[in-house]
Amino acid sequence: MVHFVGAGPGAPDLITLRGQKLLTEAGQVIYAGSLVNPELLQKCRPDCRILDSARMTLEEVVAAVLEAESEGLVTVRLHTGDPSVYGAIREQMEELDRYNVPYDVTPGVSSFCAAAAALNAEYTLPGVSQSLILTRMAGRTPVPEKENMAAMASHGCSMALFLSAGMAEALQAELLCGAYTPDTPAAIVYKASWPEEKVFRCTVGTLAECARENSITKTALLLVGDFLGNLRERSKLYDPGFTTGYRKGTDA
Ligand code: SAH
Repeated sequence: MVHFVGAGPGAPDLITLRGQKLLTEAGQVIYAGSLVNPELLQKCRPDCRILDSARMTLEEVVAAVLEAESEGLVTVRLHTGDPSVYGAIREQMEELDRYNVPYDVTPGVSSFCAAAAALNAEYTLPGVSQSLILTRMAGRTPVPEKENMAAMASHGCSMALFLSAGMAEALQAELLCGAYTPDTPAAIVYKASWPEEKVFRCTVGTLAECARENSITKTALLLVGDFLGNLRERSKLYDPGFTTGYRKGTDA
């Protein structure tokens, strides 16, 4: 049995209770060492076999799982943030299907949630944006052409950019080809929820300069959109006039 577990964004107490329980019970843990906080491994069983997938190929990960299976050991595959976001879990699942190894997924707190928390931000502000795009710049991993950055930026909605901190210059230029202006608020959150977390507020026009001046090239999210600016209107949900299934409003 393999449990894919979201480790959360970094702070060891941001893993879920379920994820923590699975981690403490596992016979083998394969963790994404490039981003998962190793402190999380301190509560593993003393006899737990711990492997860092940063040094492994998919084939090696699968081989380690199959070996554990043959010994009757349960494997926790620990991914940073939430496994469904740039986690490369589907390819592992397809291999596990081939070998009839059962698996399940325990979600985690994604870094885009931790970054919003660091900024006291809300991605979905009434009258500002009701959509959030999670995307990345094309790097060595290409992005489908119809999702090119200028096309994504044409919506002008809230956006969280993964895996792109080292390409801030090109990113800024592409964002400005879309619906954002040089004055659109932006932010860089480095290592959200880690002790060394850093938060920089800037604008789309100063995004690349901000990344450069602060030497941010990785483990950061770049956020853009007017959600980082001022509130324009309050919610309907908590408006005294608004009737909901739970509360009669004064306008009723
Ligand atoms: N599954 C992860 C994302 C993995 S992709 C999640 O849900 O968060 C790796 C990218 O995620 C990094 O390049 C960076 O852009 C972002 N990232 C991961 N952890 C981060 C953190 N604590 N703070 C800021 N960005 C982070």
